[in-house]
Amino acid sequence: MARVEIKNLNKVFPGGIQAVKNANLVVEDKEFVVLVGPSGCGKSTTLRMIAGLEEVSSGDIHIGDTLVNDVPPKNRDIAMVFQNYALYPHMTVYKNMAFGLILRKYPKKEIDRRVREAAEILGITALLDRRPKALSGGQRQRVAVGRAIVRQPKVFLFDEPLSNLDAKLRVQMRTEISKLHHRLQSTMIYVTHDQVEAMTMGDRIVVMLDGVIQQVAPPLQLYHHPVNKFVAGFIGSPPMNMVEGRLAGENGTVHFIDKNDAVCLTVPPERHAALKGHLGKKVTLGIRPEHLRESGTPQGAEGASIKALIEVVEPMGFEINLYLNLGGQSITARINTSVEPTVNTQHVLDVDMHCAHFFDMETENTIV
Ligand code: ATP
Repeated sequence: MARVEIKNLNKVFPGGIQAVKNANLVVEDKEFVVLVGPSGCGKSTTLRMIAGLEEVSSGDIHIGDTLVNDVPPKNRDIAMVFQNYALYPHMTVYKNMAFGLILRKYPKKEIDRRVREAAEILGITALLDRRPKALSGGQRQRVAVGRAIVRQPKVFLFDEPLSNLDAKLRVQMRTEISKLHHRLQSTMIYVTHDQVEAMTMGDRIVVMLDGVIQQVAPPLQLYHHPVNKFVAGFIGSPPMNMVEGRLAGENGTVHFIDKNDAVCLTVPPERHAALKGHLGKKVTLGIRPEHLRESGTPQGAEGASIKALIEVVEPMGFEINLYLNLGGQSITARINTSVEPTVNTQHVLDVDMHCAHFFDMETENTIV
């Protein structure tokens, strides 16, 4: 198995579109790293450069100890699983899985052993004689993964492999790929636009925007300590609430006041030092939906309540999502209550300011 390193990697397509800007990343041996970001952020281009399917404009890619910039894809010892599976329609499942090894002139016995072992791992032994058109989407996806496994590559690359599956199957395949990673103990790089997939599968997550890596961190670190407003808003569902306003401080107190002067929230003392340089300045307050709580619960910070108009109530079973209008700004709360609140009524919520995030309004970087 192998570590993958990209150094100062750039990709400029003909016409001048810069898809990847000065990317630096080390994927450790046996690590599962997920590249995530909105459409067009450059995640597929990054993966395709690692695979050798896209030429590098500048920068280096190492797989193991080898600089692979000029190594053709077939000699990089990687296997890639695509969104569209790319199976050969006229071949059986067995032949689809065996084909790469046949081309590489592996002995028949070894090919048979590897195909049957991979089929067993993936639970598709009974399908080996079928052709792809006689398989469901999930079964085709397994064959595509099987074809990668038999190669026993140094690195697995996945490009949105679950996008064509329905929601239930996606969740199932997600856990299967995670189990596969534990079983094979191999290096895996996985591209998705789905932050839930990223959070649940990755040892570490790479968040990209406009060709630039924004943050690289384990899932919970990203969730609790996003480096900027984009990462904070992209990771988490429903997304973090962003309320624009300013910080005011006097007589040892600090308050956040929203831009319409409709809300004044007391900031707890333990956060004052970090916010000192921003008193009197415009900031964005970030508060996750679960940190807005039913009024009167112990976690609500003193002097930090809001009253907002309920526009939509979404009962989720264990919790209720409330979509509210706070003086013209939309906010979401995730509350745990047995009494369903009524639409078009004013509702009081406590804001857990101990968990609030503050972003500089100009740079959008995290202050604290
Ligand atoms: P998606 O989730 O939509 O696949 P992505 O994050 O994977 O998006 P890329 O496919 O890497 O994004 O594309 C990054 C940027 O490069 C986009 O602006 C895209 O339009 C552009 N791009 C990708 N391939 C080419 C190409 N062959 N020629 C020109 N521009 C391209």
